[in-house]
Amino acid sequence: MQTQTTPPRVLGLYDEPFWRMMAESGRMHLQCCTECSTWRYPPGPACPACLSPRADWTPVSGGGELLSWVTFHKQYLPAYPAPYNVIAVRLDEGPTIISNLVTPPQGPIIGQRVALTVVRMEDGVALPRFALAD
Ligand SMILES: [Zn+2]
Repeated sequence: MQTQTTPPRVLGLYDEPFWRMMAESGRMHLQCCTECSTWRYPPGPACPACLSPRADWTPVSGGGELLSWVTFHKQYLPAYPAPYNVIAVRLDEGPTIISNLVTPPQGPIIGQRVALTVVRMEDGVALPRFALAD
């Protein structure tokens, strides 16, 4: 049996804490401005609201709203056999994140509540994914 590894991530200058904290704590942390409390995603050097460079990596609630989804029927990477889905979620804290739903999306689910779940890949990478909430 072949072990499938997570495709290498292309990290920006400010992405490392996100992935390290995801692996260490099993929770998603995002930058939150210490001056005006604006959440920052993707990670960056300054607050988009007040331009302060100060921020704390703060755990998010894990709740959000499903904004959109798509199912891919063609396999592009060994670790992601078709069919697989990609979703857009607006976190309760405000930022929008692209992820996957842990169950195949069906029907009119746009607008439904979702909850963060962390999936550990065979190579140990911790990926943030979402499940439909009750
Ligand atoms: Zn700010």
